[in-house]
Amino acid sequence: MTPPDLDRTFALFLDVDGTLVEIAATPEAVVVAPGLPGLLADLHTHLDGAVAIVSGRPLAQIDELLHPFCGSAAGEHGVAIRFGDGTVEELPVGIAVPEDWREALGASAARWPGVRIEPKPHGVTIHYRLAPEHGNDVWRVVRALVPEDHPWFRLLPAREAVEIGLRAASKGQAVERLMRQAAFQGRKPIYVGDDFTDEAGISAATELGGIGLRVGEVFGGDPAHVRAWLKRGSDRLAGKVTAGTVPKGIAP
Ligand SMILES: [Mg+2]
Repeated sequence: MTPPDLDRTFALFLDVDGTLVEIAATPEAVVVAPGLPGLLADLHTHLDGAVAIVSGRPLAQIDELLHPFCGSAAGEHGVAIRFGDGTVEELPVGIAVPEDWREALGASAARWPGVRIEPKPHGVTIHYRLAPEHGNDVWRVVRALVPEDHPWFRLLPAREAVEIGLRAASKGQAVERLMRQAAFQGRKPIYVGDDFTDEAGISAATELGGIGLRVGEVFGGDPAHVRAWLKRGSDRLAGKVTAGTVPKGIAP
């Protein structure tokens, strides 16, 4: 599948890790390509604000990474959503992972070098990228803590990590809520993501008449190719390039 040429009828929903930035050994170690914040700001201008970041990271971290770009965004897989006018909605308000779960996870991680606990405002992520041999141990512990029918929380598998997150939130629900905003309404959503939790976003985008682009399938698993596609789209929207007029191998 080839990604579509961007035009002004689209709305963009972009995951961060593994989509806009390369996955790193730890979430703190990611390196943001120098042109990325400016590229997102340009797309935001060309699409009249119809660009949203949809990530498992908390909003504050998304902003820190993509600074100075700051637009519509869904953090923690849709638990917190910031709309174009800057208002933030969290749902449901006031539910956080129980302290005894955090303690149990901390005690387990202390026994497994390389396993990292990342607390989030409403959930918690356990990373085993640096200790894949403990992946099964991690899953055993989180399954014991969070039964499948838990009313508030559920397990979200990720790339060499698992997150205990709010059942009520999903990236799909974030897409639906953002698509009701004025800047997004009537547009065709394009969701770009690389991971299990992005599937809900892809389904929502498809149901709303748009498409989902899986980084592994469409961009060879390489965020640099996603950025290059976005850059071409941005240039086209800015009128710098006309689709199909630049021969391959010749830089515009
Ligand atoms: Mg991702």
